[in-house]
Formats: sequence, structure tokens, C-alpha cells
Amino acid sequence: MKRFLLARSARILLMTSIFSANANSLEFLNDWPDVSVAGLRDEALEQRVQSILEQMTLEEKVGQMIQPDLREVTPAEAKEYKLGSILNGGGAWPNDNKYSSAADWARESEKFYQALEQAYEGRGFRVPFMWATDAVHGHNNVFGSTLFPHNIGLGAARDPDLIERIGRATASEISSTGLDLTFAPTVAVPRNYRWGRVYEGYSESPEITYQYAERMVKGLQGDITTGLDNGKVLSTVKHWVGDGGTQDGVDRGENHYTEQELINIHAPGYFSALKSGAQVVMTSFNSWHNDANYSVDEDPGYNYKLHGSRYILTEVLKEKMGFDGVIVTDWNGHSEIANCTSDNCPPVVLAGNDLLMITARNDWQGFYRNLIQQVKDGVVPMDRIDDAVTRILRVKMRAGLWEKASPANRPNSGDATLLGSEANRELAQEAVRKSLVLLKNENQLLPLDHTQSLFVLGSGADDIQRQTGGWSLTWQGDENTIERDFPGASTVLRSAQKLVGVDKVNTNAEAANQGDTALVVFGEFPYAEMMGDIPASKTIEFAGIKRAYQKDLALLRSLKERGVKVVSVFYSGRPLYMTEEINLSDAFVAAWLPGTEADGITDVLFDHTDHDFVGRLSFSWPASKCGDTVNKVPDSMTEMGLPAVEAQIPREDRAALFPYGYGLSLDESKSDHMGIDASDFELDGEAFACGDVADGGPASENQILFGRLADDEFKMYISGNANGWQGVSTSRGTRSTIPGVSTYPIDYEHQQDGLAVEFDGSGPSQLYLGLDGVSSVNKSGYLAAGARLEFDIRLRSEVPASTVLAMHCIWPCLGEMKLREALTDQANLNEWSTIKIDLAEFADRGLDFGQISAPFLIYSPDAFEFDIGRVVFSLAQ
Ligand code: BGC
Ligand code: BGC
Repeated sequence: MKRFLLARSARILLMTSIFSANANSLEFLNDWPDVSVAGLRDEALEQRVQSILEQMTLEEKVGQMIQPDLREVTPAEAKEYKLGSILNGGGAWPNDNKYSSAADWARESEKFYQALEQAYEGRGFRVPFMWATDAVHGHNNVFGSTLFPHNIGLGAARDPDLIERIGRATASEISSTGLDLTFAPTVAVPRNYRWGRVYEGYSESPEITYQYAERMVKGLQGDITTGLDNGKVLSTVKHWVGDGGTQDGVDRGENHYTEQELINIHAPGYFSALKSGAQVVMTSFNSWHNDANYSVDEDPGYNYKLHGSRYILTEVLKEKMGFDGVIVTDWNGHSEIANCTSDNCPPVVLAGNDLLMITARNDWQGFYRNLIQQVKDGVVPMDRIDDAVTRILRVKMRAGLWEKASPANRPNSGDATLLGSEANRELAQEAVRKSLVLLKNENQLLPLDHTQSLFVLGSGADDIQRQTGGWSLTWQGDENTIERDFPGASTVLRSAQKLVGVDKVNTNAEAANQGDTALVVFGEFPYAEMMGDIPASKTIEFAGIKRAYQKDLALLRSLKERGVKVVSVFYSGRPLYMTEEINLSDAFVAAWLPGTEADGITDVLFDHTDHDFVGRLSFSWPASKCGDTVNKVPDSMTEMGLPAVEAQIPREDRAALFPYGYGLSLDESKSDHMGIDASDFELDGEAFACGDVADGGPASENQILFGRLADDEFKMYISGNANGWQGVSTSRGTRSTIPGVSTYPIDYEHQQDGLAVEFDGSGPSQLYLGLDGVSSVNKSGYLAAGARLEFDIRLRSEVPASTVLAMHCIWPCLGEMKLREALTDQANLNEWSTIKIDLAEFADRGLDFGQISAPFLIYSPDAFEFDIGRVVFSLAQ
């Protein structure tokens, strides 16, 4: 029988703070604390702000409040609208060039800055421009930068000093590119492993978050009361508030915690970060379902979204907590408030948001015009605008933007040596070492002898994408390779080859035999935000999340059968149920998402250094497939009794396999060993009915082939006559073009989950869902179950008579029909429609479901434009 262990209290953490120094926990708070910063308020500065504000026109004020994405604004537009700032969203780079250098970034920043200087010429005053970026694990959007471990790994390191040093290093890399503000740190306290953003949080319990947030802010900003020095940038705490507490871990979902739980579990990171001088808070996408929450009016349609919450933004944050900086909205978060659209939303301003991240050109321009009109019409009071702009100017002034040189002329600007500098990479390597948590080490297999030959295997051994995770050059962290995109980075394979010698590292799994030692590196594919959510139809069993994950389980099984000794290194954005993989390994290391410096891993795995494993779990490791809410109850909460949120009540199926705080040292006598003998975990003897999905058998659930939550079995490709029908995979970040056809990511149900497709008519070409690695898969289960092909399409031109809808079973095996015939008047121009076609229709036309190579294909020799949202094999009748 499995042993369920109660979470034990946090290790001793010293709290020096507004909270009294109870050695290992935060003090319980009944209400929101005052977090205003002593010594920060400067009356002379306030007067300067007011004197500028008094001279500004309404248009100038609204311009300060609007923040578009780099891809959707030019310096000329910034000048015309007198914008106050921009951001570069994940995967947005100057001139759409991923390889832009520090100098390129600084030059681009200079252009916007100068455009605004010109815009204010002759006005008798100026308002400097500001640029924001998501530097969430290093300056991660920028080529050549150091990528530190994601926050989940830093949480395991339990080292607040390290956090401040990382903040400092990140700020210096940002300053080399001439930017001013980062949207970090994330201080979410993730309570459900299904959430795609678990890894952005330091811990499931607020003690670590509280301690770290303060230090990260200090590292990024220095002491804000004396202004921002060179090499420092403004920081943002996000996402306010309760993003880590949504029901079922759904990104942007519903939070049902009580107000006291919100304060004591989800908010402590804000308390310390704001006390430490963070100047910006980002509003969260989630809603908070609680009677205390209210919006600006009595609107019965109010959907509790925090973007519309006057209570949380104004009453709590600005008034009770005394925050006098800027509240920025999250990426078009306003459009999710009931009765709002992307370009029209008075409630988002009325609720108390100051800076509006409205990313797309049409939306921000429309919003700008609408807001101006709404002020003129009295819908939005001038006071509210003045409050917002006062805050924006105040923060810019505290950052010294009026005194600083222009972006290209600051001391660090364009200094390529700061990006990925030797010192910063060493620091990252140290962080990697400290973030590793050793869960199992049978017969003290670790450390490995670095003079001996070994096998290095597993799909993650040389995969920089699994290592770096989301928010790495691209938004999703995909579309990257180590050779092209991460010069100077290492993987476990490369690092082991360097250390042990290339000829002593064998990568051929077939050759491993009894007595050999294999390092098996595997883990989750990269993801960001909702793309990483584990849907309700699945459990949190690792190998069940994506079909591709079963390959490594199969490898472990086969190595075990052959008597090979296995050290597993697991990359993931969260703990997952994987008892079988752990059982099959002699040693098991949770390595999280370590970033670019894999030498930090070999430093601890091998015996050439005397580094030990110091990482301890900051998230509990689940003991069951349904254990998505295995959580430590913060010590501060114990006096309140059981959590009010049902899913947070400790129960047997939510017990931890390895509790919060667990982690071995190499020498077990100095370890935190909790008395578990990992060798005798039962091999998966349980049968929990929590949406366990059988694979390979008869079709029992819909398969999403394309769109949000697609299971990655298929990828969308384009090809055409002109390129010899070479499949080119389409990007979800930028435009993909080949002669004949191009695609561009669009927002369908969520950001960038759809594609705009343009056939230019220059020759036959196609868009299709294809496989990667294998040539075909068996989908007869769906045909047998009477399933249908369903897809959501929006026509943007008439459908040419020549355009074909097809499925392929390794060409020339196929089943096809004219798209016009398939649409049968169900699709209108410029409107989304869901088209449903029985799979039997394709079988009748020759398709062999036993060997599907492309389950969806649109072929067109003639010009044709449309948007595609999702493609599904649907069992619904
Ligand atoms: C951006 C990301 C952003 C996401 C919104 C993407 O287009 O590049 O920065 O977070 O959309 O969910
Ligand atoms: C994310 C934020 C991020 C923003 C800008 C949003 O989708 O939720 O964390 O800062 O995009 O990229």
C-alpha cells in the first residue's frame, strides 16, 4: 500500500518584514495590509508631475494610457497618437528579426523615443517614451541572452540572495537593449498542476514567494527611493490577483477562494514586492467569484473578471494597500469583461486600470478614439484619466526617464557583451545546480564517475526547447534550435560529452546492456499560458498528456528489462504523476525548466565537482493521477481551519508522493529524507476515475487536431508545387510564407490558436495537418465510432471552384471533395462557421483510416483566403 504522507512544514525561512518573524511562516492577515513604501513619496516630484499634467490635452493623456504591441505599431503612429509606451509581446522582435542584436533593440527603442520627443516639440514640456518586455527568466525574448531557470526551479533553490543576483543580471541584460520595464516577477501561487503557468510561480505556498518577490524587485530596480541607477529597470508584479487559484487550473479561469484565502495564499508576493518598491502591478485575466467583488455599475452581466473589478483594483490595491504606482492590464484583458469589446470598454478604465495593454492596431486606435469620446460624453470622468496619467508620469519620473539619456545613448546600450555574459551564464549555472531536486538515489548511483563511459538517452537529452520551456525567444518556446537560436547554450548531452569525452558517451539505446549506466533525459514540450493547460478529459499522468511522451516511458521499460542502471532527469513545468517512470529509474532528478545552462546539471550528476543537491520541492509531488491539487496549506492558514475551496481540502487522493520540502542530498545522512523508500512505491495499482483516457483503443473522446488544447499529434504545414511539396511547418508566432501560400497567426478562442491562410493563386499549394516523425497513424477507431470531421472556418474570399478539402492516407491514397461541396452554403463570408462532415464520406471516397497521414488538407491552385480556428475528430452526434 502506498504511504501517504502529510505535508510537513516549510523549512526554516527567515522572514524580515511587515510580517512578524514567526520562524517558518507568514503571519495570518485578516485584511489587506498597507504596503506603501516609506521615503518614496517626493513632493517636488509630485509637483512636477502635476505641472505637466495640467498642460496636457485629453488626447495626450489618453495616448499615455495606451500600450500596443511592437508588431502592431510604428514609430510614426506612436508619434501621431502620442503614445506613452509599447511592449514587445512574447516572440516580438525589432523588424520581426529574431536575431536582432542588443544594438538593434536599442536602435529600435531610440526610434520610438525620438518619435515621441518630436511629438512633444514646441509643447513646453516632454513626456519620455517607455518600452516594456517580458523578461521573466532572464531577458528571454532577446537572442543571445542568458536564460535562467524558470521560477519553479528557483523556488526549489531556497536561496533569496540568488534571486536578487538574478534580478541584477537580468536588469543589466535588459539595459543593454535600451528597454525600461519588465513584466516580472510573477508572484502567482499555483494550486493546481493542470494550469499551464505553474512554472511561472516560485511555489505552491506563499512563504517562498513572499521572500523571493522582494529580492527580485530589489535586483531589478535597486533602491527605488533613490531612483533607478544605470543598469536597472522597473519591475512589475503579476497577475493581480489569484491567477494561481482558478478552478481546475484553467488559465484565465474562475477563482472561488474566500477573501481571507486570497489575502493569505495568493497575495503575499505582492505585499513584499510592493514594499520593496515595485512600481507596476499587472491585472490578472482570471475572475474572482465572491460577493465582495463588484464592478463599476450594477450591470447584471458583470462576470467578476478582475479587469473590471473596481473592488480589487481601486478599493483594495490603490486605497487600502496604498499603492501609488501603475496598474497595467494584461494582453487585451479588457475584452474579456462582460459587455466589452476589444476597442470599446469604459469599465476597464473606471475599475482603476491605468495603462491599457491593447495590442492590435485596429483595437488600440479604436479604443483611443472611443475613450476620448467617452471622456467628452462624461461616461469616463476626467478625474479617472488624471489619476491614471498622474501614476504613469510618476512612475516614469521615479525611473528617471526625464534625466536619463535616450535609449541608444545610455551607458549599457548596445553592449552585446552584457547579453549572455560569462558572469551571467555562471550565475545561471549556479541557479540550475541549486534548482535540481533529487527524488531518488538507489544504492547511491549518483554521483556518476566522470571517467567512465555511459549512455546519454531520452528525447530531452539534446532538446533545448524542453529545457528552456515557454517564454524563450518565442512565446511558446517552440520553433527554436540550439544551433540557430541559443549560441553558447548547452544540453545534458553536450555537457556530458564535454566532460566525459565524446567517444565515451553512447547515444544508441539499443546497445545498452546489463550493468551499463544510462542518463535518460526527458520531459514536457514547451508551452506558455493556456496552451499548457491539461484539459479535464485527461489525468495529470505524464505519459498520458501527449502521445509523444510515451516514447520515453517505453525506453525506460526496455532499459529496465535489460538490467541497465538508469538516472532519469525530468524537465517539466510542474510535478506530474509518473510513479512508473520513477520506479523504473534508479535515480530520479526533477530538473524543472533549467534554461540554457545545462552544465549546471552535469555539475551535480557527476563527481568532478563537490556540488551536492540542495534543491527541495517547493511544490508537492502528486501520488495519484488525480492529484492535481496536492498542496501544502500555508502555516498561516491553519488557524482558519479547512480551506473553503473544496479542491484544496487535503484528502487521500491529494496526498503527496514526495511532500513539499522533500529532496535528497548525495550523502543521505545530510538529507531531508522523509523516510520514504522510493523503491517500494506500488506500480500504479490504482484506478481513479478522473477522466483517464485509454490510448490506442476505440475512440472514446474527441481528438482536437488543431487549435487550443490540440494534442500535438499533428502540426499544420504548408507546401506547394513551387517548393516541390516540401512541408514547411507554420509558425504560431509570425508569418510563414512559401511561394503560393502563406499563413499568419490569429486569435480564435484564445491568442494565436488560429491561422489566417492566403493562397495567392500563383500555383497549386496546400495547407494541411501532418505528422512529425511517423508517416501515418491508425484512426479507424473514429470511423468505427461514427465520428465526424469538424472544423471552424471563416471565409475571407469566395471559395474557388478548384479548391479541394481532403484527407490523405499517404499520398496518393486519399479521400477528397470540392470545398464548395463540403461547405454546402453553411459558411458565409467574414463569419465563423462550424462545418461537420461524416468521416464515412471520406472513407467512401477512398480514404484508408488505418493509415492517416493528413486528417485535414485544403488544396487550392487559385487565390483563396480564409481563417481556420479548430479542427476536431468529433464523436458528438
Ligand atoms: C504574445 C504574448 C502574449 C500572448 C497573449 C502573444 O501574441 O506574443 O506576449 O502573452 O499573445 O496571450
Ligand atoms: C501574459 C502576461 C504577459 C503579457 C505580455 C499576457 O498574455 O499573461 O504575463 O506579461 O501577455 O506578453
